Amino acid sequence: MLDAAPIRSDWTREEAEEIYNQPFMDLLFQAQSVHRQHYDPNQVQKSKLLSIKTGGCAEDCAYCSQSARNGAKLSASKLIEVERVIAEARKAKEGGATRYCMGAAWRSPKERDMPALEAMVEGVKALGMETCMTLGMLEEDQVFRLRDAGLDYYNHNIDTSERYYKEIITTRTFADRIDTLNKVREAGIKVCSGGIVGMGEQQLDRIDMMLALATLDVHPDSVPVNMLIPIADTPLADVAKLDPIEFVRTVALARILMPKSHVRLSAGRTDMSDELQAMCFFAGANSIFVGDTLLTADNPEEDKDQVLFDKLGITAMAVGCDGSHG
Ligand code: SF4
Repeated sequence: MLDAAPIRSDWTREEAEEIYNQPFMDLLFQAQSVHRQHYDPNQVQKSKLLSIKTGGCAEDCAYCSQSARNGAKLSASKLIEVERVIAEARKAKEGGATRYCMGAAWRSPKERDMPALEAMVEGVKALGMETCMTLGMLEEDQVFRLRDAGLDYYNHNIDTSERYYKEIITTRTFADRIDTLNKVREAGIKVCSGGIVGMGEQQLDRIDMMLALATLDVHPDSVPVNMLIPIADTPLADVAKLDPIEFVRTVALARILMPKSHVRLSAGRTDMSDELQAMCFFAGANSIFVGDTLLTADNPEEDKDQVLFDKLGITAMAVGCDGSHG
């Protein structure tokens, strides 16, 4: 095996631009080479995502059907029962998922919800699965309570570059996001943070988004890369479609800048051909969400994913295995 690429947090904008803009074949080759130094290239992690509280969110994320401020017609639900979450997690485990992600459409959790959230983490953890939550911004005591309940990962996406952020969300700042990420990391919970491309941003925004993650003191353990699914009645409903090659370049940049992170193909896979997904795996993506809904957006059915895995000779990472070399 080649010497492993060093893990760096001092990447510069110039380096990141140079990587992103190099000839596509060179970019893919570099990304795959880095990938092989740290991971078995034929293993992909499967995570399952459940919406535990849908719609009626106070934030104004321009891409999201769950914002109460957007015109999308998604009815708001209450936090679902703990028993139902655990039953769904059990089913996901039987389907091969190793990590269970629970997402709530909130600006931040309220005190009254904390006992149920802690019980969900404890219950899913007791099944032998890794636990992940995405609940919005957290106070320090909430971080500690979730950690003590057994939370392994916290998802908190930076969404886009700092420059483009205010075009997408006005109810919180980029700095708020980084603040929650730091609190979570300092408490010893692993961080899952990525963003969305195809929101009308410039190429430099895609580069700067990855650079912001890759220059954190510790890289996120997981980096979800989403392709926008335009949703009717949201401000981004009619945004121009991003060239898929730009999407692959973004995945490859994430892999090269953050060699040990799981780079996750997230929303947008329903619109991707098998060939495009295969190219993303070659560019270093090694994690997917499975199941046919992704919070509120469509996701490929699990048997379709299995057919693709079989065609590509990919196997799912086992529970407790992060697919990395040593
Ligand atoms: S992305 Fe999350 S925080 Fe933003 S509106 Fe949707 S549910 Fe709320």
